[in-house]
Formats: sequence, C-alpha cells, structure tokens
Amino acid sequence: MRIIVLGGDGFCGWPSSLRLALRGHAITIVDSLVRREIDRELGVDSLTPVNSLPERLVAWREVTGTSIGFEPLDVATDYERLVQVLGDIRPDAIVHFAEQRAAPYSMKSPTHRRYTVDNNVNATHNLLAAVTEVGVNAHVVHLGTMGVYGYDTVPMDLPEGYLTVSYPDRDGDTHVRDILYPTQPGSVYHLTKSLDQLLFQFYAVNDGLRITDLHQGIVWGSQTAETSLDSRLVNRFDYDGDYGTVLNRFLVEAAVGLPLTVHGSGGQTRAFININDSVQCIALAVESGDDVGDRVRVMNQMTETHRVSDLAAIVAELSGAVVSHVENPRREAEVNDLSARNDHLVNLGLDPIGLRSDLLVAEIELARVHAARVKPAHVPAESCWNRERVAARETTT
Ligand code: NAD
Repeated sequence: MRIIVLGGDGFCGWPSSLRLALRGHAITIVDSLVRREIDRELGVDSLTPVNSLPERLVAWREVTGTSIGFEPLDVATDYERLVQVLGDIRPDAIVHFAEQRAAPYSMKSPTHRRYTVDNNVNATHNLLAAVTEVGVNAHVVHLGTMGVYGYDTVPMDLPEGYLTVSYPDRDGDTHVRDILYPTQPGSVYHLTKSLDQLLFQFYAVNDGLRITDLHQGIVWGSQTAETSLDSRLVNRFDYDGDYGTVLNRFLVEAAVGLPLTVHGSGGQTRAFININDSVQCIALAVESGDDVGDRVRVMNQMTETHRVSDLAAIVAELSGAVVSHVENPRREAEVNDLSARNDHLVNLGLDPIGLRSDLLVAEIELARVHAARVKPAHVPAESCWNRERVAARETTT
C-alpha cells in the first residue's frame, strides 16, 4: 500500500513508519517537526539522542535498503500543500499522528490551550477536507485517546467508541441505537480528541470516508525491533513534566535515582500499551481498511489497565527507587476503576506483550545509559489545572 504517515517523526509515528515500511508498504512521512520546536521552547530534549529526520531516513536506507519519503508540511496551516501531496501520492491509507499530544502542555496557558485547539482540530479537519477534495479512496487511521471516555467509576467494561442506548418515542415505543460514547475530556488536549470524533462522524456519513479512530492508552517503553536496528534510528523518549507519560517518567526517575512522583494518592487507574504493541496495532488497523464501512470504526488500542500507585510499586521493586506522593496538578478523580474492551484489535490478531518486567528493566537500563542527558528540574509536572490548587498557590504568592 502507499501510506502517508502524518506526524511520522514523533514518538509513536516514527516506529510505526518503520514497521509499516518493513512490512513492504511505501511510506511517506509528513511532519512539520513542531515537536522538536516545542522541546526547544520547554528547554528539554528526548532522553535518547534523536537524530534529525533526514539523518534517520539515511540510516534506514543504509540498514534496510528501502527508502521512506519525507514532506515537511504543517497539516494544520498549509492546506494547499496538503492537497498537492495527497494528489501526488494518492495514498491507500493515511495514518494521522500529527497533533499536539500532551495534556499538561495544553493546559499551561491560554496560548497553549489555543495552540492545541488550532493545531489539532485544524490538522484533522484539513486532512478530511483534503481527502474529500482530492477524491482519493484513502483509509484514514487516526490516533485518539482512551482519555475521551473520562474516568467515571462506571462498573462496566468500556465499549469501543459507541454506547447502545434505548429511548421511548412519543407513542411509548422503544427505540435502540448506537451513539458516540459521551466524552468527558479532562484537558484541552483531550477536548480536541473529542472534537475530532465529531469531525470523523460527519465525514464518514456525509462524504463516505473510511475512517478508523484508535482510542489509544498511555504508551510506555520506547524502543521497537526496528528502532533498535541502528543507534541512528533510536526512538524519542520523553520524561519531562509536560510530555513524559506516567510510566516512562517513573522509569527515568528510577534510572537516575529520583523518587517516583505519584500524583496524589495514585489511585487513578489508566489504560496502557507498550510501544511494541502500539506499532503492531497500527499495522493491524491499516491493513484491515477494507473492513471499514460507512460508520467510523473505533477500536480501543490498549492492552491492560493499572492503578498508578501499583505501577510505582512495581518500578520501585525492580529498581530500589522510593515513591513520593506529590500534589496532583490535574483536575481529576483521585481514585477510579477502569476496564475496557479491546476485542476489535484482538480479533484482528493483536498478541500483546503487556507489562513485562524484562521490558521495564531494559527501559531503565536505556535510561541509565543516557542519565547524563536528564535535566532533573524538568521532571516534575509544573502545569497545574486543579482549580483548588491554583487558588491555593495564588494566595501564597
Ligand atoms: P509526538 O508529539 O511525539 O508526535 C507527534 C508528531 O506530529 C510530531 O513529530 C510533530 O512534529 C507532528 N505534528 C504535530 N502537529 C503537526 C502539524 N500540524 N503538522 C505536521 N506535523 C505535526 O506524539 P506521539 O506520542 O507520537 O503521539 C502521536 C499521536 O498518538 C497523538 O495524536 C497522540 O494524541 C496519540 N496518543 C499518544 C499517546 C502516548 O502515550 N504517546 C497515547 C494516546 C494517544
């Protein structure tokens, strides 16, 4: 297949591009490289020394003998060029990773809120409008988040995207239909993923686009079989308070002798997926595009759920690190239960690796190799959107 990977220079997009290329697909990465710009804005860098994208692509060609194309392009702002690229390549599938993906970053300031909405909603809408304008029959595979469901303590396995509801009509007859699961975004970032869902629903119904929306859990780990082939292919590994996701942050904290910073009681339960399972899911989703009909196919891309305090205990046990409970900067329930269905991907052949101790230890060791690159001052989460905490901070300053 000819596949365009939007956001193919990022944490999930890079290893996914390599996996798809190795499976024989012709890959073109489209990326504005804004993520590297944001690192400069925040004064941080990936734990792992990541080469420039052109250097990565040269290394891939040398190691595998296959080429991956690159179009530098901002999907949210350069619609005309996007149309041109789609028209030139006429892709069979487009994987859309190209969004601002950190909840804390989206809540730092009004500027960051507005940037996240402008970038994410426009990137998604430009893509859908461009596919429609060019008239290409490309299967759109989007990376959404499990976070759109919210974290109410509902004693059910979360379904995959839709909720079946029944309601009486005026005559008292009962009707049954599927509706998009009501979203409960916990940040402006999650809000953009909720808005994306409506865009997909509209374009699937109105324009007949084939769309898969993957509700992904928190990704942990960094290296895959392909990124391990050569040091120049190494994946990025974020550990800072904005972009470092919880388990990866614990692994780096453990590696450099910092306490594992658990927000609040650590009673939050979240969905997780290893990066190797994530790239496996992307390939399964892309290669099953013929199954997608006129309704958006939503698949929960997660393999397990864990309580944050349990994860901290596992990492502490493996590394000898201590656990430190810090004020929760987020506005979220301190304790919740969560379980979710992932039948779609399992039925397509997902064979999860899951939370294996040897993989956790390998990531801690990788972090130890690069420990000198860690900036400890950037590890704590500074972005705070817990109203009570913000008010308390303001009265003490
Ligand atoms: P990332 O920030 O590492 O990568 C995103 C890439 O998209 C970057 O290379 C960035 O430069 C590019 N990009 C952003 N806006 C763009 C634009 N307007 N035009 C062109 N390129 C643009 O993020 P990631 O961790 O790889 O996440 C990829 C997707 O997966 C995101 O949509 C995210 O919401 C989703 N996701 C990630 C996780 C996770 O734990 N990392 C979990 C759930 C969902």
